[in-house]
Amino acid sequence: MAPGIGSGRLKKQNGHAPRSKKGGNEDACGKPSRRTPAVTLTVDILLETLERMYPQACIELVYHDPLELLVATILSAQSTDRQVNIVTAELFQRYRTARDYACADPRRFEQQINSTGFFRAKTRMVLGAAKMLVNRFDGKVPTTIDELVQLPGVARKTANVVLWGAFGKNEGVAVDTHVKRVTWRLGLTGSDDPVKIEQHLMRFLPRDKWGRTTELLIFLGRRTCKAANPDCPGCLLNKACPSSCV
Ligand code: SF4
Repeated sequence: MAPGIGSGRLKKQNGHAPRSKKGGNEDACGKPSRRTPAVTLTVDILLETLERMYPQACIELVYHDPLELLVATILSAQSTDRQVNIVTAELFQRYRTARDYACADPRRFEQQINSTGFFRAKTRMVLGAAKMLVNRFDGKVPTTIDELVQLPGVARKTANVVLWGAFGKNEGVAVDTHVKRVTWRLGLTGSDDPVKIEQHLMRFLPRDKWGRTTELLIFLGRRTCKAANPDCPGCLLNKACPSSCV
């Protein structure tokens, strides 16, 4: 048993993690049943184990200020961070302020971000967001979720990434495809709706861990709990995971 297993207490926050409504149907490897894990997953177990597995976890988009993180996060939809980082390495040399983006030629911008996919929609979002930053926020990225979600192309996921990564603010949990998959497998939610998953995680986790946990869960999903072939034998959470196939 990994050190720390059994030492945590969830009830101080919100009781035990909710089990999935889909529990009992299949595990992460497609086996026909789910099981009650040997160890109850608590906040402390989850966070301590993930920190042991991924002490280097961080946002993998390259950025140097809030505007760059906002642009990179919008571009990362349906793309990889690696591809976005290749594109932004040049893009951030050309566009340094919100006004630079707001004044950009859309056709040229489309070509510059083409390789991230969905380039027309992303161009509308980035340039539209930049115009709103110039017109309503003095060219600066706002620091509240209510203001951020007013920007074109910015929903709660992107707003949470920017608030945590650029300002260190814990306003929510960014639920991307990895967080959605691993939290379902771990039995932390029974929903596949990102809005509900975020609510479940915000009740489950202490507020000061929302941003950090997002980074850790994304690393878990990218490196171990992959969609097609989760490495349950190599996962330190396997004794507390109802979907583990070992
Ligand atoms: S044991 Fe780990 S890798 Fe396997 S399903 Fe659970 S979280 Fe994913």
